[in-house]
Amino acid sequence: MDCPKCGTANADGVQFCTNCHATLIFKCPKCEHKEAHGGRCDVCGEDFAFFWARHFAEKNAEEARIEKDKAEAEANAVRTALTVPFSGPAGWAFFLITQALNRIATWYRSR
Ligand SMILES: [Zn+2]
Ligand SMILES: [Zn+2]
Repeated sequence: MDCPKCGTANADGVQFCTNCHATLIFKCPKCEHKEAHGGRCDVCGEDFAFFWARHFAEKNAEEARIEKDKAEAEANAVRTALTVPFSGPAGWAFFLITQALNRIATWYRSR
């Protein structure tokens, strides 16, 4: 196959030109049909550029979703960290100490 870019004769089935590395065989990203031109697939009609644009847009959306999940997990962790000391064992200790202090204060005042 002659390279359309530099004219070098390449063996059939070679995907890239051995001289200038231009793409000689384009593989459809959707149906994997191989053809000598890029752009649009002869078999399924998929637009290669559009396919990759859509592919990367989906990937970005996926990454954005993961980032959002991460941010939500962090927010939840902070929320938990803020509420646990008052509802867990430390919260109980705090409650008991306050009760004791109140009792002492009441006793002290009633003397
Ligand atoms: Zn070439
Ligand atoms: Zn195709």
